Amino acid sequence: MDTEAKCKITIIGIGPGSASLLTDEARSELRKSDIVVGYRLYLELLAPLISGQKLASFEIGQEEERVKFAIDQSLTGKHVSVVSSGDAGIYGMGGLVLEKLTDLKLIHSVTVRIIPGVSSLSSSSSLLGAPLMNDFCVMSLSDRITPWSSIEKRINGAISGDFVMVFYNPSSNTRRDIFEKAVNLLKEKLKPGTPVGLVKNAYRDGQAVTITTLEKLYENEVDMLTTVVIGNSSTFVSGRFMITPRGYLQQTGKSRHGSAIR
Ligand code: SAH
Repeated sequence: MDTEAKCKITIIGIGPGSASLLTDEARSELRKSDIVVGYRLYLELLAPLISGQKLASFEIGQEEERVKFAIDQSLTGKHVSVVSSGDAGIYGMGGLVLEKLTDLKLIHSVTVRIIPGVSSLSSSSSLLGAPLMNDFCVMSLSDRITPWSSIEKRINGAISGDFVMVFYNPSSNTRRDIFEKAVNLLKEKLKPGTPVGLVKNAYRDGQAVTITTLEKLYENEVDMLTTVVIGNSSTFVSGRFMITPRGYLQQTGKSRHGSAIR
């Protein structure tokens, strides 16, 4: 069969959750598909925006099943969309779809399109102010796939490079200790007053934005729907904003108007 023409998978980043932050491209691709495959919660968010598509919902932990289902359906000639929150290529479903197509030797047979989305690092930093104005590292604290020894190595690297850090997957009901280990490591090496931003449910119901410090971090709740931003040595807080200077004002000798939490 001429699979090239028939088998189609579109991998779609749906943004943080609000309809207004779903791109036009994503919306139009969703409407063109026969089946939309994704995590149940995200399909519930999308349901009012699309019509006529079959929704195939899966639970967390069923990522491989989702991809297998999507590929099987595409091989029957259906146009399948696989959705991920934020950007599908950032701790999302994008890689798994491409890896599985490679394993099955179908990478040349299925037409894949990847639609970018607003990732949590953008949505969360927009709510915090401008914490990512200088070099930053993004890390997932999930040790489901990555062992703690690797996570620890990467955090230490980010600390020694004075990077701002963004943590995805900081905690879940089954693994709270990784976040504690990460925070203890940061506390050993960074100033207690280092600004920390916590964004829970960005652009969704239940949105909560908190700016605190490393020493007070434990007073705040962090869960699997939270993105955590740890400032670098020059990050400061001004009004309700967390700001990492890009360096323009320092370069021209002008002083900044905010004060660091120390
Ligand atoms: N592909 C997604 C990330 C998936 S990993 C993206 O690009 O954003 C899941 C993690 O993303 C969560 O544990 C949380 O840290 C973060 N996250 C997802 N949606 C979020 C939201 N609406 N608000 C804050 N953090 C979110």
